[in-house]
Amino acid sequence: MDTLKAEKFFKAGEIIMAQGDAGTCAYFIQEGRVGIVVEKDDGKVLDMGTRGPGSIIGEMAIVDNQPRSATIRSLENCRLLEITKDDFARSVRGANPIVRLIAQVILMRYRDILRRSQMLSHEAAGAQSPELQEKEYAEQINVVQAIKMANEFKVAIATGQLRLHYQPIISIASGRVLGFEALMRWQHPERGLIPPDLFIPMAEDSGLIIEASRWAVREVCQLIKRLDKLRPDLDSVYFSVNMSATDFDDQGFLESFNGILDETRTSASRLNLEITERLLLKQPKNVKETLDRCRDLGISVVIDDFGIGYSSLSYLHQYPIDALKIDKSFIHMMRRDAKVLGLVKSILSLRDNLAIRIIAEGVEEAEEAALLASLNCDVAQGYYFSRPVAEEHLYSLLAQRNPLQV
Ligand code: C2E
Ligand code: CA
Ligand code: CA
Repeated sequence: MDTLKAEKFFKAGEIIMAQGDAGTCAYFIQEGRVGIVVEKDDGKVLDMGTRGPGSIIGEMAIVDNQPRSATIRSLENCRLLEITKDDFARSVRGANPIVRLIAQVILMRYRDILRRSQMLSHEAAGAQSPELQEKEYAEQINVVQAIKMANEFKVAIATGQLRLHYQPIISIASGRVLGFEALMRWQHPERGLIPPDLFIPMAEDSGLIIEASRWAVREVCQLIKRLDKLRPDLDSVYFSVNMSATDFDDQGFLESFNGILDETRTSASRLNLEITERLLLKQPKNVKETLDRCRDLGISVVIDDFGIGYSSLSYLHQYPIDALKIDKSFIHMMRRDAKVLGLVKSILSLRDNLAIRIIAEGVEEAEEAALLASLNCDVAQGYYFSRPVAEEHLYSLLAQRNPLQV
């Protein structure tokens, strides 16, 4: 647990990092001041100045695997936020390769200048001090909050603070549950239940979504086992899990998926993956390959929020897509706006032309459900049928809507 804690404390006078040591992390200074010294080849020690709250120290080691280029000692009691090499690697893995390359080139050049410069003067006359520049930059990107939240989320994954709620996907005609969408929540010890919109973007940026998605898939597979024990008659009820573009940057994506299915002995046909159009438009060359392999495994692929993105229909036959979810904004507007209704109808026509299942999302009113039924759209999801529920309510919901046949 302790190694997961990002906050580190150093008493005044303690060495935070020593020149020449292998570096495994950088620190963001929250409180206190540190002094930086560099020992030159001739043994002379150069004072490189001090840094205070808002500065990052030890950043080079986490990027280019070189030993520490300076010794840093706390001048006062210091409270630091640790950014590990792993944190950094995860953040850049999915990031733009140009950003990664440039960061590395700049660091290499910076190190080179440091090495060659016998002066190492850090105070260019008239220029803003590096400390001030760094501090301003850190304030702009709200770095403390981002690092803290990412670290808290790491703890959340490791200590079981994540939850899945399940929203039923319903046949309008029969009222029966056809499947569920798993939606993630974070049961934060102080802040209570946090909705996904508040943490998924951070989890994507930090790369932690990969671990969270694996957790979600495992959790769903275990639920399927519990459900099969209680209701073996419902073995066609499927579960949809949301995936982010970042998940597809993970080389081990399919292996881990396959591993979880094997380990929990879950049939792949019980799982759907929900992805957005953005992922397909990003077109990383492994997306098609990964989706094709999902299809080979028997996992269905669903395009989420269909219609609000770039809606290039060309990808619908390029990729192995089983279903589309009409975005809730269309369902909301279709009774008021003839153009939107036209759009909904044309999305529904894809079902027959391309043999793709269509699911209407965000159905909140009986009239919407009735209109969809009249358009021959039978599969829907929304507050009108049920809000997302915790697992304990899922069984009673099924008992009501899919009663045991005797
Ligand atoms: P989404 O995938 O489009 O999920 C549907 C969202 O609409 C859910 O919000 C759901 O509670 C909400 N919703 C369902 N029915 C209605 C309705 O009738 N009216 C309205 N207004 N809303 C309805 P939620 O649970 O807050 O999730 C928000 C988004 O967070 C999701 O949108 C999805 O993009 C993301 N998300 C949730 N769980 C995960 C996850 O496990 N992994 C990833 N990568 N993203 C997730
Ligand atoms: Ca979804
Ligand atoms: Ca959606």
